[in-house]
Amino acid sequence: MTAETANHILKNIRIVLVNPLFGGNLGSICRAMNNNGLTDLAVVDPCSDMDMDEARRFSCNARAQLEARREFATLEEAIADCTVVAATSARTGFYRDTSYTPREFAPIALESAKDHKVAIVFGREDKGLFNEELALCSHIIQIPSSDLYTSLNLSHAVYLCGYEIFTAASVFQPSEETAPEADTALRERMFRMWREMMIETQFVHDQKLDHMMMGLRRIFNRGKLTVPDCKILMGLAKQSIWVANQWKTEKAKNDSH
Ligand code: SAH
Repeated sequence: MTAETANHILKNIRIVLVNPLFGGNLGSICRAMNNNGLTDLAVVDPCSDMDMDEARRFSCNARAQLEARREFATLEEAIADCTVVAATSARTGFYRDTSYTPREFAPIALESAKDHKVAIVFGREDKGLFNEELALCSHIIQIPSSDLYTSLNLSHAVYLCGYEIFTAASVFQPSEETAPEADTALRERMFRMWREMMIETQFVHDQKLDHMMMGLRRIFNRGKLTVPDCKILMGLAKQSIWVANQWKTEKAKNDSH
């Protein structure tokens, strides 16, 4: 999937908040949505005295997302044009035993959002979603959480669901090592220099040298050694050999006096 296609699909995924109470959560949700490439926010009957200054502060650089939210009187209106509609709930009962985790739901959302609008519905901070609201939804998402406290903060729940969808869409390309990998010739040159360094600096007795070299090989082969890595290691060895020789010359001078 190209980044362009993925972004088109993500645009079709709507976050729906039912009766949210706190401005801080609304702002954090705008930020969490933008972090995950989501832009469609519907708010159903928001609390009339919601602290909008707090919402703006918590939205940080996602202020435009906050301003772009659409408000609806009922959940039914907010999801009228959507096909797949997932309710999120921490509780069990009311068919919740057939729930999906956000990770399981992500490919379902992405597939449907190729051609349709998809909604993920979140409940009130204090009471969650009512059964008649769950009944309007085609899927239920339960975020795995400990028995110590199963209910997440509303904005965290939105972040988690958004993150799984964004990750499944593979828009993000993690930064990769671009330096070329060292070949055997370079690696062996580096190992020879380290061997010489251990001798010149009198780091180990002769009989332990081979054993130590095997240890070093094990350490360096644990990861991918690049050409620049080898150059740094060879530079360090070269300088140490030079210092050791300086020291020997000084010592010889002093001993002869
Ligand atoms: N006391 C409420 C908790 C609401 S938390 C209750 O018992 O339902 C606010 C919203 O965050 C929930 O309605 C749901 O949309 C979401 N949420 C919180 N924890 C969740 C979880 N473990 N799984 C899925 N959604 C969760």
